[in-house]
Amino acid sequence: MKSAYDIIVVGAGPAGSAAAIRAAQAGLDVLLIEKRQEIGVPVRCGEATDIETTERFVDLDPRWINNHVETYAICSASGDVVSVPPSGDTIIVDRKVFDEALAAQAVREGAEVRVNTAAVDLIWNGDTVAGVRLQSFGKSHNVRARLVVAADGVESLVARWAGLKTVPAMNDFFVGAQYTLAGLRGRLDPSRCEYHVGQETIAPGGYVWVFPKSDEKANVGVVIPGGRNRETSATEWLDRFVTRHFEGASVLSVVSGGIPVTGAIKQMVVNGLVVVGDAAHQADPLTAGGISLGMMGAELAMETAIPALARGDVSTRALHPYEEAWRARFGQMHTALLAIRKIITRMSQRDFDALVRTAAGLPLATMSLGEILLAVLSRHPALLLEARTLITTGLVLK
Ligand SMILES: Cc1cc2nc3c(=O)[nH]c(=O)nc-3n(C[C@H](O)[C@H](O)[C@H](O)COP(=O)(O)OP(=O)(O)OC[C@H]3O[C@@H](n4cnc5c(N)ncnc54)[C@H](O)[C@@H]3O)c2cc1C
Repeated sequence: MKSAYDIIVVGAGPAGSAAAIRAAQAGLDVLLIEKRQEIGVPVRCGEATDIETTERFVDLDPRWINNHVETYAICSASGDVVSVPPSGDTIIVDRKVFDEALAAQAVREGAEVRVNTAAVDLIWNGDTVAGVRLQSFGKSHNVRARLVVAADGVESLVARWAGLKTVPAMNDFFVGAQYTLAGLRGRLDPSRCEYHVGQETIAPGGYVWVFPKSDEKANVGVVIPGGRNRETSATEWLDRFVTRHFEGASVLSVVSGGIPVTGAIKQMVVNGLVVVGDAAHQADPLTAGGISLGMMGAELAMETAIPALARGDVSTRALHPYEEAWRARFGQMHTALLAIRKIITRMSQRDFDALVRTAAGLPLATMSLGEILLAVLSRHPALLLEARTLITTGLVLK
């Protein structure tokens, strides 16, 4: 390991590797560090993501693509199903192999990758971040960098060391639990990702997902807001669902973890440092999907940071266009998705079931979001007040 780099990226998840790929492609000297002994494990993910974003960074490879999905289904507690095509081609990946492939791509582009290497503090030059103190294979190192990228995920300490507020409120934080189940042949539609919603009997304030990895295997998981986890834990809700739908299936792996669903933090840069991915709360505030949004966050950060480094100016001001680019690209979408989550959370299970029944009878494929909203509101006028928030985001009227 050298004593100085242009960029040190902390965390080799999808966002960190995406940042390292873009920085190395620009000819910068990049160190990507990962505190775990192995990249990608333990997996804390339902593993669904979109092809379009993935392909921007790495060639598709059957070694990490488990399945292709054609539809998403929203399933109510009373058994009604609304099928919607995914907004882009969706794949279920093997995160362990996928994360490793992304890091390997960063190496191919010229980055240096180190596992078992944790950032334990920042090095400062006055009020500017100037590097990272590392713990690598039991030894401490001070490594200087012209820019540090905090891509250290949901538990991000790096952004906090830099003075950024990244701790979400309890209810703006999803607690997740997931089993990879086997033995599901005949009980699974492998072409469809399912979201099961029911405030009282499925997951209060959250949902259960069934993401098929093949015709006999699926990731089945639940998220609920952190504040609800004490009453009945996410794992208990998951066990209830699995008993009801997949009795007798075998559990191949257990996953738990948290996801901030607040929408991205406002300040994502300070002098000498940018924050990307889950560390910046860039995951979708409705579904909590964060793989591709984190990678896109990293790309936008590098689009600002690379020219800033070339000019020799990594001040907060010089890095600020990254925050603006994020808001221009994803801000409106995040606001709308957050509003939808809050509306669903406030609805009773009965009202939500009635809504799904209405939507199930509409020709959704031929309707715009605005038309769907109007059709739903004409049958459920009590929702008008709630929908106002959504309409003011402007997104549904497009
Ligand atoms: C149960 C569950 C299911 C999910 N399902 C999906 C899904 O189906 N689809 C989807 O798109 N998203 C899903 N997500 C969210 C998704 O996993 C995250 O949004 C995504 O992994 C974020 O990528 P990231 O690179 O920002 O962070 P991470 O993938 O969390 O990577 C951060 C990395 O930083 C490392 N690190 C942390 N601190 C340090 C340090 N001090 N020094 C060095 N390294 C450090 C960590 O070890 C980790 O490897 C799910 C999340 C959970 C919890």
